[in-house]
Amino acid sequence: MGLFMKRIDERDTMFARMSYKNGSDRYVDYYSRNPGKQEIDDELRSRTELFSDQTPYFDKYLSTAAEANFDFINDIRHLAEESKPHKKISIDSEEVSALLKKLAVHYGALDAGIAFADDKFFYTHRGRLEESYGDKVDTSLKNALVFTIEMNEETINTSPAADAAAETSNAYVKGAVIGLQLTYFIKNLGFRSRCHMDGNYLLYAPPLAVEAGLGEMGRNGLLISKAKGCFCRIGIVTTDIPLIPDEKSDLDIDRFCKLCRQCIRTCPGKTVSSSDDPKDWHVEQEKCYGVWRNLGTDCGICICACPIGQDIPADRIKGMSDRQIAEYMEEYKEKNGTRKRNLKFFL
Ligand code: SF4
Ligand code: SF4
Repeated sequence: MGLFMKRIDERDTMFARMSYKNGSDRYVDYYSRNPGKQEIDDELRSRTELFSDQTPYFDKYLSTAAEANFDFINDIRHLAEESKPHKKISIDSEEVSALLKKLAVHYGALDAGIAFADDKFFYTHRGRLEESYGDKVDTSLKNALVFTIEMNEETINTSPAADAAAETSNAYVKGAVIGLQLTYFIKNLGFRSRCHMDGNYLLYAPPLAVEAGLGEMGRNGLLISKAKGCFCRIGIVTTDIPLIPDEKSDLDIDRFCKLCRQCIRTCPGKTVSSSDDPKDWHVEQEKCYGVWRNLGTDCGICICACPIGQDIPADRIKGMSDRQIAEYMEEYKEKNGTRKRNLKFFL
């Protein structure tokens, strides 16, 4: 897929925009520069909040569990910022590159890779947090350890139920904790490091995960990981350790996506691109987020619609002809309809 090349301003992302309270300094600043977005954003903000007991998928335990996970991340997110390293010890780049990836997996990641994060992967300005709104993003830590965290397939296949939201938030918590353990380790080696976790990323994670060889972008705008398709979240640690980047993967996901189209059929917001040109593949964030607010959860239907990682391993695609993919899809749809679905996982 044609990855974005233009840097993103975090102030333009949906979660940042939804945090601008009417009349606040951020609200006035943002909509004076972006008047075209004010009406749609005001309307979205007026809808019932995510996880509210007024939403159709509210569950008194699991919606609360999801919110509790995000509260926890909010409480620890200050630890993600860079802090002063200890006395530097002598290291070998090759050894540390291999060790960091092994440690990430040992601490609970599904897979890990290394990428050189040039400026295009970083946001231009911060937007999500009030205290740093409008700050230029520091791009000085350019060596990135990128890792995936598995989300339980059966639980995610309850989407858009609160069970799935509890699991998504659980994966964000795990990613935050693993990332923090690794930044503390790097700090103790005497090098600079910064953890990027939910609500506090300085980079746009999916293209960087592609750069680190962890997978490729799908039509649904998500990372299709080598290890588990879209059933994962992404964690990042950036550092000044001279790490050795991994090769990008060659899975041929574009070709599979052209023939599959399951996420187009299932998206309730009708916002997954039906173009055959991967450069057009993106999800309109306003429409997608509007669905979230209507459901009261983070939807996730385009994750469970995807056969890769749950029905067919990503590394099998390269060896399949177009005809074999088309035949596979016919069988898949016959067996599963538009998507695999579990009605309840936890309770
Ligand atoms: S999360 Fe839901 S609304 Fe958003 S793109 Fe996926 S299926 Fe569509
Ligand atoms: S559901 Fe199909 S078209 Fe959509 S991302 Fe997955 S493989 Fe690609």
